[in-house]
Amino acid sequence: MSLLFEHVGKRYQDGTVGLADVSFEVPAGHFCVILGRSGAGKSTLLRCVNGLASPSSGRVVVDGVAVTAATLRQLRPRIGMIHQSFNLAPRASVATNVIAGALPAVSTGRALLGLFPKALRETACALIADVGLGEEHLQRRVASLSGGQQQRVGIARAFMLDPDHVLADEPVASLDPQTSIDILALIRRKAKQRGAAVLCSLHQIDLAMRFADQIVALRDGQVVFNGTPKALARQG
Ligand code: ADP
Ligand code: ADP
Repeated sequence: MSLLFEHVGKRYQDGTVGLADVSFEVPAGHFCVILGRSGAGKSTLLRCVNGLASPSSGRVVVDGVAVTAATLRQLRPRIGMIHQSFNLAPRASVATNVIAGALPAVSTGRALLGLFPKALRETACALIADVGLGEEHLQRRVASLSGGQQQRVGIARAFMLDPDHVLADEPVASLDPQTSIDILALIRRKAKQRGAAVLCSLHQIDLAMRFADQIVALRDGQVVFNGTPKALARQG
């Protein structure tokens, strides 16, 4: 189990270089922070893992399988995703939003609409409790929750299918400092419990130092550091 980037380059249609020759590996179960300023290439990098962007050169290999149009169907259910602006259905309930995390495992999305199998509902309820939302929240509309609570829903959804990998694109960018710490601690705890590797983009070095096992720093689409928080501190 690992995530491997092999000489990944991404040039957009307008000629912008998103990534230039990026190579690194995230071992199974590691919490890896992709650290960089706005425009450094963090989103591009994450999108190359789940197929929302395709590399112009090189490849991404997930558990020994290269990410291609043909392998995405098989890989998607094993990759949980957590978003910057949560990407939840605001008018739907907390429970419905979390159950939707199982959609990648269903051959046609329609099979799930309307009638959720009991097992899925039980998994969702257990996850919702585990991320710190009480039973009284199950049927509440997501739009009525705070940002921190909404991201808890996003985290529960990402773990619906027991993913081997979790992608989190600036998951705390819209949250206050204390809530950011709580949310990153929760993502880390859930991932460690599951043994899932995390690829989490951040622009705050203090948060990266606090939560990462591995930090990959990007600047202008290139890796300028890859190592532990301790090694980054020594390097200064
Ligand atoms: P971030 O919040 O990661 O810094 P941006 O605000 O740069 O992201 O970009 C937000 C969205 O706009 C992304 O989906 C990105 O792909 C797209 N985008 C960013 N830069 C450009 C660009 N030069 N041309 C077209 N789309 C872009
Ligand atoms: P980050 O997530 O670190 O803010 P991005 O991956 O969004 O960085 O962007 C990296 C570079 O690629 C930036 O220069 C951005 O403007 C550019 N970019 C991102 N998406 C697009 C796009 N769809 N079309 C053109 N350029 C893009």
